[in-house]
Amino acid sequence: MRPAVGFDIGGSTLRGGLIGFEGDGYRLISQYRQRLEPDDKPPVRLVELISRTVERLAWQGGLQPSAIEAIGIGLCGQLTDGGHRVVNSPHLSWREVDIGDLLTRALGHCPITIENDLNAILWGEYQFGRARGCTHVVALFVGSGIGGGTIVEGKLIRGAAGFAGEVGHVKLGGDSGLCRCGERGCTETVAGGYYLQARTTAERGYGRLDVGCYGETGAVGPAEIDAAYRQGDRFARSMWEEVARTLSSLASCCIALIDPELLLLGGGVLEHAPALVSLVRQEVLRRVPESHRRALRVDLGELSDQAGVLGSAKLALQGLG
Ligand SMILES: [Zn+2]
Repeated sequence: MRPAVGFDIGGSTLRGGLIGFEGDGYRLISQYRQRLEPDDKPPVRLVELISRTVERLAWQGGLQPSAIEAIGIGLCGQLTDGGHRVVNSPHLSWREVDIGDLLTRALGHCPITIENDLNAILWGEYQFGRARGCTHVVALFVGSGIGGGTIVEGKLIRGAAGFAGEVGHVKLGGDSGLCRCGERGCTETVAGGYYLQARTTAERGYGRLDVGCYGETGAVGPAEIDAAYRQGDRFARSMWEEVARTLSSLASCCIALIDPELLLLGGGVLEHAPALVSLVRQEVLRRVPESHRRALRVDLGELSDQAGVLGSAKLALQGLG
């Protein structure tokens, strides 16, 4: 068994796991999850948290930290220099951070691999989950923001500088407003969870949400909008139709280019919204060329929260050769 630690660090949550890999299989030995508050997000603080979590996972799993062979970190943001520099991470509020340096100083005893978080999730699903056995996969993830990933001929595609998959910041959003990346009209300002939440909160403020569907108070997330859609609520219908149109426009171009066997869907918004997933599936199959439609599967990932932890740990081990 080869022990490795994987992290999945998104804008709101850090997840870590110590995993023992053996052959094609794995065993989750210990895991840790923490919500990220604004104080946790400055790079130095986050690196301290990562370092403490590695020790915690090792002790919980009955291992010495020195027994860990590799550490993989899936990090939300646009990464370059082999993952060592974060150019922009809208959800961590980072720009131009040499994260590789900071991590190497903190965890120098152990080889470290840093990967875009969605690439790590895609790799986890490819190695152990829904995409196992595929050779060409396009992934579209809708959480707080939107991102994607591609596997072509069994290889993760990172692109010339490392930015492949940043589909959430393609400008399909018209005049939809300011994105957290600093630009306007990004797709995620129409269909990302952070912005959906802002719109429903504003609707609630104007008194335009049907209290029969959404209640008088309380948060309105994707699960509530999805339930309201299924009850025929007009606001939910218009929002979900717009989101499905936008996501399927984005996905169908990627599909036409790559010709994948699987469009893998994931992220907190889609995982909590089965009606939206059905709409996206219908819209994608309607929009892609007929030749692509026959063999294409459109499916949610199956590893949920564990995909990124598994994928980043596996990538780190594979990086050792
Ligand atoms: Zn953007």
